[in-house]
Amino acid sequence: MKIEGIDIYWVKLPLAFVWKTSYADQHFTDTLLVRMEGGGHSAWGESCPVFIPAYSAEHTIATFHTVREHMAPRIIGQEIESAQDLLDRISFIKGNQFARAALDIAWWVLDAKRRGMPLHVALGGGKRDRVPVGADFGVQDSLDILLQKIQGAIDQGFPRIKLKFRPGWDLDMVAAVRSTFPNLTFHVDCNAAYTLADADLFRKLDRYHLAMIEQPLADDGMSLINHADLQKMIETPVCLDESVQSLSVVQAAIRLRSCKVVNIKMARVGGLTASREIQALCGEHGIPCWIGGMLESAIGGAICAELATLPNFTYPGDIFPSTYFYKNDIGKPEIVLSGPGEVTTSQVPGIPQAPDPDLLKQWTVEHASFRA
Ligand SMILES: [Mg+2]
Repeated sequence: MKIEGIDIYWVKLPLAFVWKTSYADQHFTDTLLVRMEGGGHSAWGESCPVFIPAYSAEHTIATFHTVREHMAPRIIGQEIESAQDLLDRISFIKGNQFARAALDIAWWVLDAKRRGMPLHVALGGGKRDRVPVGADFGVQDSLDILLQKIQGAIDQGFPRIKLKFRPGWDLDMVAAVRSTFPNLTFHVDCNAAYTLADADLFRKLDRYHLAMIEQPLADDGMSLINHADLQKMIETPVCLDESVQSLSVVQAAIRLRSCKVVNIKMARVGGLTASREIQALCGEHGIPCWIGGMLESAIGGAICAELATLPNFTYPGDIFPSTYFYKNDIGKPEIVLSGPGEVTTSQVPGIPQAPDPDLLKQWTVEHASFRA
């Protein structure tokens, strides 16, 4: 298929509330929306690098620059026959997984449309028409507010809950949640905020029977070894997020026994091609995966739901109804719960979502356009 057009939009989406994690207090989501055209079809994809290079070394402006200057020019006008073909043409670029993902993801949606099938069918997810999703809560102003919100999520039927965990909002918070909800399935996400010197804190967490501890330690050069050391000291499964930036990192993590669970964010690992490979490899080694989120719009959220149909995504994903993070989601149709703690997958070729044209105009910071 000849790639006839590529449009890259850097957009700034206002959040419905201030999202607080161990990185920052966030008022906006910066994201890249990519429109790819070819074979008489067009499709939208999304890759969501954060604005501040704190979650990863990549950040919105750099990712936008890399796609515009070094990647899209090598894809536009080319006959691309597979995702691997596309990836091979930009394989000379090191790192920059969010940039790689921006094109890989748009290609998968476009190819699914060309083949006349929903994206999840193209990805190999079979006929699954719905996937389970969880509820997430960042750091709150008080424990009472958190407990009320968790009760609300339980009442809505969410099958599991994820809680942000940072110094000052840690053991006491988990103790309060566990004593109020003895049977709740939940886990904590540390966003890389701790070191092995905090091993005692994580040992104490064992008594609360968490589903996992997500990215307890820094994602630096010692990451896989340090997480392996921590995993030996505690019962609770360690889940890697920030550390997993590619398939090869997962291969190393498996060899070193650094984790028992892997969070796959399609943009962080370089796209849908890598996401498929990672979940399959983890499946061979008895390591369950789940879908993480980067506060994507309904476009990225819908693509995450399609990916979640693959067999080794066994823990409910971070895929949210549009109204959770946004007063007005740029992606339409918005994502809604189709039942308690679940969303439906696409019933049309590719995905049904596209940006609202007025909101796209209003919230675009920069736009690059390529035509064959
Ligand atoms: Mg995380």
